[in-house]
Amino acid sequence: MFRKVHVRLAALCAGITILILLVMSCGYLYISERSLHTSSFASFQNDMDTLIGSLEQQTIITHEWLTRIEDNGKYLINVIDNGIPFLYNERNTPEQKQLFETAWDVYDNRFKVEPLFSAYDTWHMEYPFSSAEENGNDYYACVITSERNTGTFQVMILCSMKPLLMQIRTQRLLFLGLNLLASVALALFSWYFTRQLLRPLEENQRQQTQFIASASHELRTPLAVILSCASASIRAPGEERMHFLESIQSEGLRMSRLIDDMLLLTKAGDCRWSIRKESAEPDTLLLDTFEAFEPVAAERSIRFLIELPDEAVPPVSCDPERIRQVLSILLHNALSYTPEGGLVRLRLLYDGKNTKFLVTDNGIGIPDEEKKKIFERFYRTDQARSEKGHFGLGLCIAAEIIKAHHGRIKVSDTPGGGSTFTVVL
Ligand code: ADP
Repeated sequence: MFRKVHVRLAALCAGITILILLVMSCGYLYISERSLHTSSFASFQNDMDTLIGSLEQQTIITHEWLTRIEDNGKYLINVIDNGIPFLYNERNTPEQKQLFETAWDVYDNRFKVEPLFSAYDTWHMEYPFSSAEENGNDYYACVITSERNTGTFQVMILCSMKPLLMQIRTQRLLFLGLNLLASVALALFSWYFTRQLLRPLEENQRQQTQFIASASHELRTPLAVILSCASASIRAPGEERMHFLESIQSEGLRMSRLIDDMLLLTKAGDCRWSIRKESAEPDTLLLDTFEAFEPVAAERSIRFLIELPDEAVPPVSCDPERIRQVLSILLHNALSYTPEGGLVRLRLLYDGKNTKFLVTDNGIGIPDEEKKKIFERFYRTDQARSEKGHFGLGLCIAAEIIKAHHGRIKVSDTPGGGSTFTVVL
């Protein structure tokens, strides 16, 4: 399911970003091409202004002057003197002659201008012009008309737009290449980005599935016992029935405790956990828990000690009920995983900044590779699997409580064997 969502999300993300990129690139390209056209035409008009200035100073138009203004083939020139083509025009190739014919037609039909005031004896017109033939070139054209004593003298100058169009084509290709590269990069980024986005959701889904599977597994055992005891109790005689009913009750209690734990964890996962912080005396918290567990330790023949610092420890801001719950989980574990005759110590330390609660035992200990895993839901080490009433949820609950207090919980080895759990507030 996540793979499908990932593919769709990546495609959507890449599609939108690439579309935005393309629209922006096309917009930029359009503006850039327009400004290239404008500046190129303006430069042509500038050249023509200079040329007209020079033409006005010429009394006789010589071939040398015309050759000079041709500027090494940059411009094509066609001259008409009193309606008769100038001899200079013979230098043009047949195609160029054809081109000028069309250009003159276009000029006569669409652009021909007369001076606004008769005082002007030279006037001119610049316009873009496209040759009629197929694959014909585009040109800027300028027609200069000069009234002289000898009659009307007209010069047509054509400047090919080929270099400009080449420049535009190169720019388009460059844009296309860059856009392709950017699109590939965006597609890869979208793939990676959506992967990162979905990873926590996927992990969450995996944890939930695992949680449900483990919970069902844990619930199945007591339920099976209850069912078999119930059916056995139907046939059993009076006194024996009592024994089955007791089993049903104890397994029912086990199930109820497990369900309570699961509900607690679900609330923590949804952040619906309310922590009611108040100022609490850490030594009182420790003494309360110690007293509650003394009978359990005595029943299991485990030496149980409490160690408090000599100087007074300042109150801590915490939810005392929840901290008691954490200490109970740690003590319950310590007493469960320490053999008869062992030692469990409950200690309070204060280093001037942090308050630390330590639960130390000299029991079976926890291998290094398992130290992190024991805080996961339903995780139990191999040695602990046989322990009844242990579902592998206690430390997970403890860790959530401490996390809600912005504190830390860690486990280390007790020198000489066993485990030490430290809670830092
Ligand atoms: P459980 O209810 O099974 O004890 P916990 O989450 O409290 O669940 O603990 C997870 C596992 O960590 C236990 O099953 C056990 O394997 C290991 N563990 C916890 N505390 C101790 C301890 N004091 N000594 C040895 N192993 C421990």
